[in-house]
Amino acid sequence: MRFISGIQPSGNITLGNYLGAVKNFVKLQDDPRFTDMLVFVADLHAITVPQEKLELRKNIKQLVALYLACGLDPEKCHIFIQSEVPHHAELGWCLQCNTYIGELERMTQYKDKKERQVAGVSSGLLTYPALMAADILLYDCDCVPVGVDQKQHLELTRDIAARFNNKYGETFKIPEPFIPEAGAKIMSLADPLKKMSKSDPNPKGYIALLDDINVAKKKIKSAVTDSDATIRYDLENKPGISNLLTIYSCCTGTSLKDTEAKFKDSSYALFKEAVADAVAAELEPIQKRYNEIINSKLIDEVLDNGRDYAIYLANKKLNKVYNKIGLGRKR
Ligand code: ATP
Ligand code: MG
Repeated sequence: MRFISGIQPSGNITLGNYLGAVKNFVKLQDDPRFTDMLVFVADLHAITVPQEKLELRKNIKQLVALYLACGLDPEKCHIFIQSEVPHHAELGWCLQCNTYIGELERMTQYKDKKERQVAGVSSGLLTYPALMAADILLYDCDCVPVGVDQKQHLELTRDIAARFNNKYGETFKIPEPFIPEAGAKIMSLADPLKKMSKSDPNPKGYIALLDDINVAKKKIKSAVTDSDATIRYDLENKPGISNLLTIYSCCTGTSLKDTEAKFKDSSYALFKEAVADAVAAELEPIQKRYNEIINSKLIDEVLDNGRDYAIYLANKKLNKVYNKIGLGRKR
């Protein structure tokens, strides 16, 4: 089986991205069912909202170093940059021509991000899911490990693939989402009703994997919680506390039930202290490895290999698609 997943270099990679996505990629590397793994930097997706050139380049490199620092092993997993494999944009266009505007306009991410744009909404923000479908369908992936927020896009990918297969004959494998049981939706520390996002303009809402450890701890300690003073998992009435319980549970590998039991008689202050320590213990080794990797030759080596492998696979599939549609001359 093969899996693929990616993260946009649209800011500082957060604890949400780590617990909902990267940590699972690392786990799946050792799952014998998966014989092929692709993880990419979704830079073409990042430009659906405005990006500053130097910042984007810095974020791309940083994300690759973080993938490696979090434990992705280039011997097991092919890491590449989306824009270095032009087949993504090419297939994305073909799929866009098989996607309805109504389907795209229903996407929650589009509706949310559209609201935040001050200087005009790009058409790329709307058509993003067709490119995401291409990212996955190019490689005949069986499964896509993502956070809950991407479930809707993945369902659309499945619809697009089925529609294409129906119209042109069997072409794409229909992928399954792989959403972790815990940590699939880490909430903002400043507003626990909102998803933690790296593009949040308020840095108090997220913990970046590269945040100074003391800053990260402080963000946990000042996380917005209710004033009811009891610690229990209750998403509806206690979203802030529930989010911290989830974070502790994911960082320490303690079940949510055991985490709840452990802190049931604790004060908020002591509980937050423990969560802050758990997050620090998770971030410290990642940051140490990151510092060793960021200026090493490893990054380019990994990316060259990843790109070549991805192009090799993508080329075969894109030729097939062009033939099915009748584009150009027979390939
Ligand atoms: P942006 O705000 O730019 O969209 P993001 O934080 O949502 O950034 P993405 O690059 O869109 O990050 O998503 C990368 C991966 O991280 C996806 O698999 C997504 O489902 C997952 N993810 C994003 N936010 C969270 C979160 N708060 N909790 C768990 N998983 C998340
Ligand atoms: Mg996102």
